Amino acid sequence: MRTPALFIGHGHPLNALLDNSYTRCLRQLGEGLAKPELILMISAHWESFDTQISVHPHPPMIYDFGNFAPELFQITYSAAGAPEWAARVQKLLGDFPLKLNAQRGFDHGTWTVLHWLFPKADVPVLQLSLAVDLSPAEHYQLAQGLAPLREQGVMIVGSGNIVHNLAQVNWRQIDGVPPLRWAVQFDEWVKQQCLAGNHEALINYPKYGQAALLSVPTAEHYLPLLYVLATQQPEEELKFVFEGFQNAAIGMRSVQLG
Ligand code: ZN
Repeated sequence: MRTPALFIGHGHPLNALLDNSYTRCLRQLGEGLAKPELILMISAHWESFDTQISVHPHPPMIYDFGNFAPELFQITYSAAGAPEWAARVQKLLGDFPLKLNAQRGFDHGTWTVLHWLFPKADVPVLQLSLAVDLSPAEHYQLAQGLAPLREQGVMIVGSGNIVHNLAQVNWRQIDGVPPLRWAVQFDEWVKQQCLAGNHEALINYPKYGQAALLSVPTAEHYLPLLYVLATQQPEEELKFVFEGFQNAAIGMRSVQLG
């Protein structure tokens, strides 16, 4: 049986502490998921100059954000790493050079999401970095190579945001702020392309114009979506497990395959 794949919009780190419609949704989603063998995480918050894979057996916490609340720094996510899976991932990627990283821990793109989805932290987590020198098409191609892992009990989870413009966010208020017009426009376009299976358009998102440029000023929060879509199988169901915005300029739309 094929394991579902998820793209989760993570938004503000404070979501790790908040009880809102988004965090309740993640909790519920997690309760309905069968426990996978492994989570392969692709987070917006791990960019590197080459594609790296984490092989730390007990990944430490990384608190990679400003001092929003002292309680955030108390959160720990104690899932084990999975160094034994690294060779299997490398085999799937063939000649593609993968660098092992034995120091890397869990960044907040990983733990703020997994702490709601799998609160028991009882599934090992392997993390793959986003290489800054790859084009969206090359990221997509690399991710296609990971698809067979879903037949081996691996849940591929991308963590980012379809709309992510920190220059335009309302920092004072997370929930209940009306989203900006271009944010809604781009999010709606992405939704339609996802439903139509038009991955080519999603890879070439800058062609959509101004709303795309404002929504994706830098690619790292958007790319994890491509990693998940690249593993979609013919006729495989895609659904949106959460829709909406935070801080006026952060799209929280989250996607489930399978
Ligand atoms: Zn982020």
